[in-house]
Amino acid sequence: MNIILLGPPGAGKGTQASRLVESRGMIQLSTGDMLRAAKTSGTEMGKIVSEVMDRGELVTDEIVIGLIREQLEGDKKGGFIFDGFPRTLAQADALAELLAEVGEKLDAVIEMQVDDEVLVHRIVNRAKEAVAAGGTARADDNEDSLRIRLMEYYKKTSPLIGYYHAKGDLSSIDGLASMDEVEASIVKVLG
Ligand code: AMP
Repeated sequence: MNIILLGPPGAGKGTQASRLVESRGMIQLSTGDMLRAAKTSGTEMGKIVSEVMDRGELVTDEIVIGLIREQLEGDKKGGFIFDGFPRTLAQADALAELLAEVGEKLDAVIEMQVDDEVLVHRIVNRAKEAVAAGGTARADDNEDSLRIRLMEYYKKTSPLIGYYHAKGDLSSIDGLASMDEVEASIVKVLG
């Protein structure tokens, strides 16, 4: 079973993806995590994407599609969870093609609905907690970058909601419920 978790930054996609990895042996494919890893390891790609990410803008379709392509070839275990990908219609089309190439298809798109002000609050807190725990906050977990990330979401990613709805793949759930309740809603969709 292959699914997309769709929702704005801070909606809880990563948290829920980790739970599905634990409970169902699925594989989490987070383009955000892959890009951060490229930044940290100082690869050529990491250098290219660094400033764009810190500002809160989207990196090019070509880069993220390439990252996903690399991951689809290996063991598929309990299926893929696409977390933070696709974020544009071009990425959505590319994903359908890539899945078809490896004999797979998309089974569900789960939209996690949340409220913007709650997101800003959650992300600013996530940054504070990271610092309080002795770590460093994500470079894009500040209010300025977050406003840009939200705008990018509404401009470029939210059209995917209509697109997947039209294809009959979309389920929308309340992303503001407790983590356990959100997980239960997702499990219900997966059947
Ligand atoms: P995330 O961890 O999913 O919030 O992603 C962090 C940042 O990585 C985003 O703000 C973008 O700059 C970049 N990014 C992650 N996934 C994508 C994607 N599918 N398309 C374009 N940019 C992405």
